[in-house]
This record gives sequence, C-alpha cells and structure tokens, in this order.
Amino acid sequence: MRAAPPTLDSQKTMTVFEQEQLASALLAAIVESSDDAIIGKDLNSIITSWNRGAEKIFGYTASEMIGTSILRLIPEDRKDEEAHIMGQIRQGQKVNHFETLRQTKDGRLITVSVTVSPIRDIEGNIIGASKIARDITVQKEHECELARISRLYASRQSEIVAQNEQRFSATMIESMPGVLYFYDESGRFLRWNRNFETVSGYSGEEIARMHPLDFFVGAEKELLKERIAEVFEKGNAFIEANFRAKDGTSKPLLFTGRRIEFNGQRCLIGMGVDISERKRAEELLRASEGRYRTLFEHAPDGIVIANAEAYYVDANASICRMLGYTREELVGLHSSDIVVPEEISCIATALSAINSQPDYHREWQFRRKDGSIFPAEVIATTMPDGNILALIRDITDRKQVEKDLYALNDNLEQQVAVRTEELQSALVRAEAADRIKSAFLATMSHELRTPLNSIIGFTGLVIQGLAGPLNAEQSKQLGMVRSSAHHLLDLINDVLDISKIEAGQLEVRTERFQLLDSLTHVAALVRPLAEKKGLELTIIAPPELEEVVSDKRRVEQILINLITNAIKFTEQGHVTVTTELVSGHESKGEPCPVLSLRVEDTGIGITPEDLATLFQPFRQVDSGLTRQHEGTGLGLAICRRLATLLGGEISAMSEFGKGSAFTVTIPLHPPTRP
Ligand code: ADP
Repeated sequence: MRAAPPTLDSQKTMTVFEQEQLASALLAAIVESSDDAIIGKDLNSIITSWNRGAEKIFGYTASEMIGTSILRLIPEDRKDEEAHIMGQIRQGQKVNHFETLRQTKDGRLITVSVTVSPIRDIEGNIIGASKIARDITVQKEHECELARISRLYASRQSEIVAQNEQRFSATMIESMPGVLYFYDESGRFLRWNRNFETVSGYSGEEIARMHPLDFFVGAEKELLKERIAEVFEKGNAFIEANFRAKDGTSKPLLFTGRRIEFNGQRCLIGMGVDISERKRAEELLRASEGRYRTLFEHAPDGIVIANAEAYYVDANASICRMLGYTREELVGLHSSDIVVPEEISCIATALSAINSQPDYHREWQFRRKDGSIFPAEVIATTMPDGNILALIRDITDRKQVEKDLYALNDNLEQQVAVRTEELQSALVRAEAADRIKSAFLATMSHELRTPLNSIIGFTGLVIQGLAGPLNAEQSKQLGMVRSSAHHLLDLINDVLDISKIEAGQLEVRTERFQLLDSLTHVAALVRPLAEKKGLELTIIAPPELEEVVSDKRRVEQILINLITNAIKFTEQGHVTVTTELVSGHESKGEPCPVLSLRVEDTGIGITPEDLATLFQPFRQVDSGLTRQHEGTGLGLAICRRLATLLGGEISAMSEFGKGSAFTVTIPLHPPTRP
C-alpha cells in the first residue's frame, strides 16, 4: 500500500507524531520495494533489519539474518573491512561509496557497491549503521575486460611506439573476440583489429579515411552519435546497433564503448560482438509467440491464463464471448467471480490438483456476467512461468443431448413395458379363444356323430333289404350315401380328436400291453386294403419284443393311420412295418431304449417342399380338383400330436416317385410328468 504524499497544507495540520509516522511509512515502503540490499545493523555489527532486496542479492531470508552478525557475508580475507567501517561510523563519519566482494548463501562471491551511513537515536547518539549494497558483478566483469585492454594499451603506449606496431596489434588487439577499434574525439580511427576489416569488408586504408558513424545508417546513426558523446562524457556505455559492411549487408552487434586517455587526448575504445544468433533466437521466439497468440485468439475453446492465486491475467475471445465479459473486465477477476457460488469452495482443491497433476480436468458450473449458468469442461495445467493455463469448453449442447438421450431411453423402456403387457394379455386372450374354439368343435363333433351313426346304421339296414327289396339302382345310390356318411364320420372323428388334443382334453392312458398283439390286430385290419390293391404287407417285429407301457388304442391309431396312408399312396410294390428297439433319451435326458415303428412304402413319395408342411392340419399334398385320394388332411397332424402326448415323436423321409418312410418313436415306459 502506498501512502499519498503529504501536501503543504496537510503538513501544517499534521502533528509531529503524525508526520513522523508518515515519514516512516514512506521509508518502509521505499526500503521494501528497493532492488538494492538495505541492511540495518547495530554497533556490534549485528543485523537489525533486512529488506527484500537483501534477500534477493544474498539469498538469505530476513528471519535467517536478523540477530546474526554481518560478518557472515564477508569473505575470510576481508573480515577486517568491517571493523574499519564501524570505526568510521562510531566517529559519526559517512563512509564513502566503495566496491568490495561479498559471499552469498550459496557460496558465490559477488561484487557489490556499498554505501554505509550511521543511524542515530532521537538524541542524536549513533546506535548503528545502515548499509546499502548493490550487486554489480556483471557490470564489473564488462568493465574489467575493457579496463584491462585500455590499461594495457595505455600503459604500453611508449613501448608500442618503440616496438614493432604490427606485433603489438597481433598480440594485444587481435586476441580480442569481435571487432575492436580506437578513435579519437574527432572520429579518426587510430587502431583496429583484423576482425574489423573482415567484418566490415573495408581495407585498412579505407578505414583510416572513414568516420565511425559511416558504418551505420538511418536513425541508428543519430542514436549512436548521442551514445558516443555519452561515452566521452561518462566513461562508458553499451549499445546495440546494425553494423553495415562495404557490400551493403549489415549484422547486429553489441558494442561496448569506453573512454580512455591516449597520448594525452580522449579516445574511445569500441568493442563489438556479433549478436545475430541471439537476434535470430529472439525472432524465432517472437514468431512462436505470434503463432501461439493466433492460436490463443482464434481457438474455439475458451482459454484463460491465471496466476497461481487464480486471478486471471489473460483471456481469449472465446471465453469472453462465453462469459459475456470484455477482456479488460475479465483480466483481474478471480475464478470465484465466474463459477457458481456452490463451487467456490472447490477452487483451492482444484489449484493444488493442477499443481500436482499434469492432466487436471473437471466439469464446472460457470456463471456469466448476466448471472446465467452453463456447464463447462475445464482442462488446466501449470506453465513453466508458474501461471495456470486453462481450456474451457462449453458443454451445454452435449449435456442437452445426453439428457434427451436419457429421456428417450426412459420413454423407450416404458413403451416396451406397455407393449409387452399388451402382447401378454393378447396372447392370454388368443389362447383362451383357441381353447374355447376347440372345446366348441369337440362338443359339436360329438353332437354330429350321433345322428350320423344312425344314418349309417339305417342305410345299412335298408341296403341289406331288411326294409324291403331294392332294385340295383337304389342299392347303388344307397351305397354312395353310406360311403359318404362314413367319410363324414371319419372327418368328424378326426376333427374331434384334433380339437380335443388342442383343447387339452385328450388324456392318454397308460397300460401294460404286448406290442406284438397290437401289431397283429392292426395287420388284420389293414391287410384286406393291401390285398385289394395287390400290395405285399410285411410286419417285421423281433419275437422277444418287450411289454410296452403306453396308450394301446393311440399307438394302434397311429399305426393304422400310417399304414392306411402307405397303402393309399402306393399303387404297386409293398408296405413294410418294422418294429425295433433303438437307443433314445428319456424326457430328463437319461439314455434309454425306445420303441421305433417304421412304415415304409414303394408309393408315389413326397417332394421335399411338401415334406416340410406334412404334419400341419388340413394339409393335403394333392389338394387340387383332380384329387385322386380321399382323406381329410388331418391324419398326420393327429399322429404327431398323439406321438408327442405319448412322449415320443414322428418324422418322415421320402423320395419323390419312389416311396416314403414314416418313423414313430415311443418310450417303452410313460414319460414322468412334471
Ligand atoms: P389324408 O387324410 O389326406 O391322408 P394325412 O394327414 O394323413 O391326410 O396326409 C396328408 C397328406 O400327406 C396326404 O394327403 C398325402 O398327400 C401325403 N401323404 C401321407 N402319407 C403319404 C405316403 N405314405 N406317401 C405319399 N404321400 C403321403
């Protein structure tokens, strides 16, 4: 904090105490801000105050130094300097400005220029000394070099005259790096090194006729003129200028000029070093800085640079747009000014995270100038200069898309749930309707069968002539009535069966029976049909065939169905029924022997396409108007359902035009019901 300078008026109205307070505040401010080391010590050389400048120059902090002796800073061979100085101080003398060596905390010897003055108490007694020290090491090094040359030159002047001038230039001047020359106050060159000729491209004779300013052009010429005057006046100066060679090219040199006495007149010794490389490096740096700046300015993401305390020191156009501040407004603001209040407490943690991890990133809620809020992703890193570089990306859109997606997902799940429920109830309804339909068909079939049986019965009686004699035509027509009635009865029986099965009303019985008996019974029933067509019917069954536990009537029904089909669709050849025990699986997966009943024929066969739909109800392969075979198209569908009810299965193989083979497998024992 800086106190306002007192005006004359205020000085008048201020008390002495106030004035002293003001003065000491001012002094403290000056002392603290000085680059020079300002050190207070008592008469015993114990340090009483130590400013920031001292800390910078010597490397020790105030707490390390206050209360200890100043001798710590003085190299061994100069320790007595201090006693000498303090002697002068005690006598109230101001010690004149002097240059000496001091030692820093890290052991370096530095050249300092020192001023020491006494400190007095209120009564005027000397109680200590204040010491102002300035580090002049670098300056000293330059000066030393020039002094060495000028000293050498001046001291050996007489020798030069006496000795071979060429040799002197070679040994003394030529050993210097860069260009080196002397000229007098009128600008006449007295001496120069070979480098000067090489770099300038001028010969010695030409240089002898030239003026020092001839090597420079434009505004630099004027500037140089002033600096040369300064060297003649003050003793030395540094200047950077473009040195132009004879061929018109120029290169930047850093000149050190120093005034010397030569031959009783004031001369200037100039030494120039090529700094093209340094310049080029600077230019590259500037170019990369320029590229960085362009990137910074035009980046679509917001970029800010903050200091270690999170105050913004720079910001690009994007972040200004995002936040609604101008760059001037944003610079100087603190992170807490642009995040939502709830997140301010997280800033300290974030700062330490950025310091400790190379890839810090986190989502923040930002607050615009107008108070509105937006989410942003922040990536931050510490830069070599200690500042923090942060990239800020507005993720409002991304968040919205995510939200929409979540909503859509939720909605979709709901829709799926509703649809599933609808389908479920539709299925339940359909199943119920199906059962009702089958139950209706079963009842209806039963009702139809009763009158049909009486039609068949009475027709039979009439045909037999029990109701009186019939002529040939009447007998024939009544025969057709009976045949149609039989067909209708078959159909009704089949419909009844399949309806019962589908309505879940058909129960299979389990009984113990000899399969051989069943085979014999079935063979007796179908043999007349085969014989009628001149077909050979063979039943192959091993005599040791076991007892079967199944539904005898249904097993026979399947067999009759398959054999009558075989006979029906075979015009010549044979029909063979093969029974055997094969290995199969129980319903639980346990291996066990099963009964296999295979009905083969040498009939018309079935095409592969028809095989695929063979077991569906009402499917007749030959369903056109020119159908040759009678049938309902329900037989195989019933067989398959019965086989399944009995715990077995049915399959068909056929070669079109050559014959077919239907195989039913049935377990020897009934499947265990769950
Ligand atoms: P259908 O009462 O019409 O015989 P099925 O369900 O028993 O009904 O048979 C369906 C159809 O399968 C038959 O119409 C016939 O075209 C075909 N089919 C059945 N068995 C054989 C077979 N052994 N040889 C050739 N075709 C057959």
